[in-house]
Amino acid sequence: MTFDYDLFVIGGGSGGVRAARVAAQGGARVALAEEDRYGGTCVQRGCVPKKLMVFASEYPGHMEDAQAYGWTVHAGGFDWPTFRGKLHAELDRLEGVYRNILGNAGVQTYDTRATVADAHTVALSTGEHFTAKHILVATGGWPVKPDLPGAEEALTSNEIFHLEDLPRSILIIGGGYIASEFACILNGLGVQVTQYYRGAQILRGFDEEARGLIADEMMQNGVDLHLGCNIVEMEKRDGGFRVKATNGDERMFDQVMFATGRTPNTAGLGLEEAGVELGRNGEIVVDDYSQTSVPSIYAIGDVTDRVNLTPVAIREGMAFVDTVFNGNPTPVDHALIPTAIFTQPEFGTIGLSEEEARDQEPVDIYATSFKPMQQSFAGRADRVLMKLIVSKETRKVLGCHIVAPGAGEMIQLAGIAVKMGATKEDFDRTVAVHPTMSEELVTMREPTRSA
Ligand SMILES: Cc1cc2nc3c(=O)[nH]c(=O)nc-3n(C[C@H](O)[C@H](O)[C@H](O)COP(=O)(O)OP(=O)(O)OC[C@H]3O[C@@H](n4cnc5c(N)ncnc54)[C@H](O)[C@@H]3O)c2cc1C
Repeated sequence: MTFDYDLFVIGGGSGGVRAARVAAQGGARVALAEEDRYGGTCVQRGCVPKKLMVFASEYPGHMEDAQAYGWTVHAGGFDWPTFRGKLHAELDRLEGVYRNILGNAGVQTYDTRATVADAHTVALSTGEHFTAKHILVATGGWPVKPDLPGAEEALTSNEIFHLEDLPRSILIIGGGYIASEFACILNGLGVQVTQYYRGAQILRGFDEEARGLIADEMMQNGVDLHLGCNIVEMEKRDGGFRVKATNGDERMFDQVMFATGRTPNTAGLGLEEAGVELGRNGEIVVDDYSQTSVPSIYAIGDVTDRVNLTPVAIREGMAFVDTVFNGNPTPVDHALIPTAIFTQPEFGTIGLSEEEARDQEPVDIYATSFKPMQQSFAGRADRVLMKLIVSKETRKVLGCHIVAPGAGEMIQLAGIAVKMGATKEDFDRTVAVHPTMSEELVTMREPTRSA
């Protein structure tokens, strides 16, 4: 049977664009459909605009520090429309870059919604149908709001980049990394931020000591964080939202933002009808090679709800091309993924938390918390945390957790050593870089405790 294409990719985000480009560069005939903007979540409403907002929000702190260092600087006010205009110009530029990447690689693009008609056929919303030897679903995920009257008027991370004006006050609901990052960003931009999280501590699943320090610092920086607290009732009124909380509070907020979870984009895609198995949250069930229950259909990225990060979606896309087009079956390695959470303070982490590690085997914990030189000189009370979780038996570093300015940059590098299986003694053999914060990672001599 001859097909219109060797590969049809649905979704032009991080994973889809990479897979389409690499497959086409290898000589495959590739098409890609994108219903919204090229670049997907990461570029249009995720990592990139968020990080630019993180940068914008850090300037008041830098200016206070500059004054403490003897500079005469005056912050003035933050002009959101100026920033927002530049932000969207940058996102437009990046969308162009993604389009060019695809065009230059010879990928045929369709600016429209696509669904799966059968194991080898894609239907476009224009009415066109195309056959393909392989279909790759890379449709990502979407924020979900709870089923609560009034919630439809509230924001999610999607809308936050498009606000007409910055609110004076905002309630952020959720305790994951998106909720916590936006609490810090908006706090830095001068918005009064209240955060409700129904759990006992934000950033569930990460190292408890690190989570505790981040929450304490966020509160110290002005985020009004309420743990064990959820929303009971909300109503949109003139001038904002009236919100009733489980802790008995009844307050008005200019805006409410839900960061309470994301759902894979599989609704109405025709997947189940084509025989593709979906999981309980609507995610596409795949094997180690990203193959679904229909052999010609593969899925990568957030739509599979494995590890929902841009570099992981890209890895999965590359592994898919190696497996299907390069005759080199490549499973995706999801072990020991370094990652950063851009709260203020920032968090870089890889591997097991202390709690996970001690459930697995006896471990030594090396941890130090101190006031970093630069901030301490400026009179700030901020503390940083450097922590290594070390196997008692093999001495391998099972986890590394850093709460510090620049922790994202640090964990990328420490992550190489951990991924290579470095032992604590390998860390110790490495000469410190002085004076830095990260030198503490190679100078912690005695375990703080064993577990
Ligand atoms: C606020 C926020 C901050 C984030 N920050 C980070 C971070 O700092 N670091 C990090 O690594 N990750 C971060 N992420 C996660 C990261 O953005 C995702 O993991 C990544 O974008 C997933 O890529 P993907 O290719 O699976 O899907 P996406 O990038 O979501 O792309 C899917 C694309 O498919 C399109 N699409 C969907 N259905 C159809 C259809 N039927 N037909 C045609 N097109 C369709 C969509 O329009 C979209 O463009 C963040 C996410 C959010 C929401």
